[in-house]
Amino acid sequence: MVGSAAFVYDDSVLKYDFGSGHPFKITRVRMAMDRLADSFQELQIEPARSATRAEAELFHDPGYLDLVKRFSTAGAGLLDGGDTPAFKGCYEASLNVVGATLRAVELVLSGKYAHAASFAGGLHHAGRRNASGFCIMNDCAVALALLRRRFNKVAYLDLDAHHGDGVMYGFYSDPGVICVDVHQDGRTLFPGTGSYLEAGSGEAKGTKLNLPLPPGSADDVLVSMFGDLVVPFLEQARPDFFIVQCGADGLKGDPLAGLSFTQCGYLRVIEMLHEIAHRACLGRLVLVGGGGYNPGAVAECWAGEYMALSGKPPICGTKPSTSLPSVLRKAESVMSAIRESHPSFSG
Ligand SMILES: [Zn+2]
Ligand SMILES: [Zn+2]
Repeated sequence: MVGSAAFVYDDSVLKYDFGSGHPFKITRVRMAMDRLADSFQELQIEPARSATRAEAELFHDPGYLDLVKRFSTAGAGLLDGGDTPAFKGCYEASLNVVGATLRAVELVLSGKYAHAASFAGGLHHAGRRNASGFCIMNDCAVALALLRRRFNKVAYLDLDAHHGDGVMYGFYSDPGVICVDVHQDGRTLFPGTGSYLEAGSGEAKGTKLNLPLPPGSADDVLVSMFGDLVVPFLEQARPDFFIVQCGADGLKGDPLAGLSFTQCGYLRVIEMLHEIAHRACLGRLVLVGGGGYNPGAVAECWAGEYMALSGKPPICGTKPSTSLPSVLRKAESVMSAIRESHPSFSG
């Protein structure tokens, strides 16, 4: 009998720790698990594992991995322009995060579970040869590279407030990686990329869908973008596997972003993706984590998303948020621009 959803966790992932003064808190994963352990009988914890060097090289350049290793041994220095400091053991800690995500993928591929969650993962900014935005190794990209050996078409959905540039550009010319990225408009937020005009290159043109949202966008915008654009896009693509990056820094009040989602909006989106995955590919879907800088709110959101995969989404305690009329008008004009310009909609 196939279990519904695995929660991949052990304390090895907690080593991905930039220190107490840094906004990225890996402990959110543990907090989400603790919440579930208190109240959710269906919680099925599976231990993580470390990735091998060869697995990391499925996406990352060996020279870059050597550089990370040197910084990791030294335990000091900056791996990017300033947001991503090296720490002692950051090489091994990054391999732990990559391994946790690969474990989630394996649990689904083996048929033991229809779905799995590895909220330690979701480090979507790291590029083949660079760290960026708190991300040293890109677990999502390594998992996609691995899945591409097996499947012709895999889908990556990115719900983080920031554009998932490391994944998007890592597979920009690969028609077998369908990317959908909803994020706060890059003209107002790091890393600045993700215009709706970026749709993939060469043979892959039309396989990438960027949904840049005006600051202040609330659940109404998120849910209609998914219902009107993303669902038809994915129904048409029919991928064989889904990886969903669940960065929760789009929650209202996040200190690093300016969107106004609530857990209700995120849950609705996860439910839509869950349904499509069952229709398209026997439910094969893995959730990973990502950003989110109010730890308690993020842990709550992730716990709810995991419950949704088990078919028992929590009752949303709050009302879905609504956008101001001025924000709604801007979002509607983005949606019509996408319909007119994107190869998948404009025919
Ligand atoms: Zn983010
Ligand atoms: Zn399911």
